[in-house]
Amino acid sequence: MAGNAINFQKAEYIKSAAAPGQFIRDGLPQIIFVGRSNVGKSSVINRLLNRKNLAFTGNSPGKTRQVNYFLTDNQFYLTDLPGYGYAKAPESEKLRWAELMESLFQRERAHITAGVLIVDIRHKPTKDDEKMREWFRDSNCKLIILANKLDKLKKSQIEPALNLIQDTLKPGELDKIIPYSAQNGTGNDELRGAICEILGL
Ligand code: GDP
Repeated sequence: MAGNAINFQKAEYIKSAAAPGQFIRDGLPQIIFVGRSNVGKSSVINRLLNRKNLAFTGNSPGKTRQVNYFLTDNQFYLTDLPGYGYAKAPESEKLRWAELMESLFQRERAHITAGVLIVDIRHKPTKDDEKMREWFRDSNCKLIILANKLDKLKKSQIEPALNLIQDTLKPGELDKIIPYSAQNGTGNDELRGAICEILGL
């Protein structure tokens, strides 16, 4: 079965980086996970790694504003970036986030193997999602768009929702859109398979 080359359950939290000086640059591949606050990023990571609380949920103070590194089966880092687009965040925090992202994409590109952009399948991707998508495109980085919260849609709503995401984010030829539910695990095998494929495993 696709996705078997990596034992996704063998994951450990390594560290959190609050500033570029603390980023990991040890040559292991990194898949970076991004998405707006509350899109379900922590739930996706916990589902992918089959753990209850490895990724910090939205209300763990501090950790959610840092880059968190999870080493998976000693093969790659799952790099969890701070959620964006939280309207009530203070301006200073938004600025810090933007600076962190810029330094990551401008100076750390060599360490980024691919990205997983998590969006909510029920909604048109936001301007921030589009900006994120541009960053990946401009840096020639493969992207998996994960359309989360699939369980919230009726069957007849799925295709139009995926079309809207496709039309808004315009994935490149090598990119993928995967319908997903962190709640019930739909799409998890496909996500694992896509990560193995990107890593050449
Ligand atoms: P984060 O801020 O992006 O890390 O989001 P969380 O993982 O903390 O999830 C935000 C909320 O969305 C929580 O109430 C989750 O239970 C819920 N959630 C996450 N993924 C799903 C999903 O696939 N389906 C449903 N129905 N709810 C989800």
